[in-house]
Amino acid sequence: MTKIIFASTHSVAPQEWIEPLQRALPQTQIIAWSQKAASVGAELAITWNPPQNLLLREPTIKAVFNLGAGVDALLQLQGLRPDTLLVRLEDAGMAVQMAEYALHALLRITRQFRDYDRQQRLGCWQPLSDIRRDEWPVGVLGLGVMGLRVAQIAASFEYPVAGWSRQAHTVHDVQVFAGSDALSAFLARTRILVNTLPLTPQTRDILNAHTLGQLRPQAYLINVGRGEHLVDEDLLRRLDDGHLIGATLDVFREEPLPLDHPFWRDERIVITPHIAAASLRDETIAQMAAKIRCYLAGERPSGVIRRDLNY
Ligand code: NDP
Repeated sequence: MTKIIFASTHSVAPQEWIEPLQRALPQTQIIAWSQKAASVGAELAITWNPPQNLLLREPTIKAVFNLGAGVDALLQLQGLRPDTLLVRLEDAGMAVQMAEYALHALLRITRQFRDYDRQQRLGCWQPLSDIRRDEWPVGVLGLGVMGLRVAQIAASFEYPVAGWSRQAHTVHDVQVFAGSDALSAFLARTRILVNTLPLTPQTRDILNAHTLGQLRPQAYLINVGRGEHLVDEDLLRRLDDGHLIGATLDVFREEPLPLDHPFWRDERIVITPHIAAASLRDETIAQMAAKIRCYLAGERPSGVIRRDLNY
């Protein structure tokens, strides 16, 4: 019987996941990770933010199934071999939430709800100027499962939308820029920048003073990718010099965001605690069980990470 270890340092109660997974995978034995226990000889792992020593203690693991879309934490695991298969969650209810989140942040700025909030606090009845969508071109970094949905929702609201990806894609109503050579042109036409990239060595620190400075004047940043995409002090610099008018941030270099971090006290910045898109439990369990069944049948499941690209 295939042994699967369930390992998460997140605050989830493991049994709430293990029991339904075990029902969906009766041909396996799913065992909860315990830091103090000896190796159980697991062949597979199901993880979310796994303990650093997972693969050192369980060196027989051949494949790791991640309960999230981003695998940056898995790629840091000690003892990770080049041939260990990494499989990620795809969508599982997250893309529509990501689109909602980005749309909310976008409309708050373009429809001036932020200003109406201020006016209400002052008891001020003052209609502001009408919206002109051509003044708010949206640019989405990453056109994968998350970015595509964000780009499509913004396009359906008739904003001019562009996306940036590694390879060229054809997306209805979205201008696609591909590859690092096209990044400057993409930024130069963008005023609302939404980051949905995965964290890789190529994308780390991609939101810096130089790239943010290439956006159209009075730009706005929405970061839902990873905190390590953004150079925090560079964002503050671009807000201070007026090139950016604000930012909505869901992800941070250190989470929870330390209480003494300047972002907390900055009225130009909206902070949420990494909630832009949560995977839905039942969909996640069904998808993971299907991927594991596929793997055990000797086939290649979808969502396998390309180790040469790190996503
Ligand atoms: P995908 O793998 O489906 O999409 C990744 C996209 O990024 C692809 O379009 C890819 O290009 C592009 N990309 C990757 N590297 C580069 C590069 N070097 N240059 C240009 N484009 C690049 O991932 P998802 O959309 O499912 O998820 C994206 C990220 O969103 C996750 O890794 C995670 O960090 C974050 N996330 C955050 C959540 C939150 O709650 N805040 C929830 C879920 C995810 P191409 O299409 O050419 O391959």
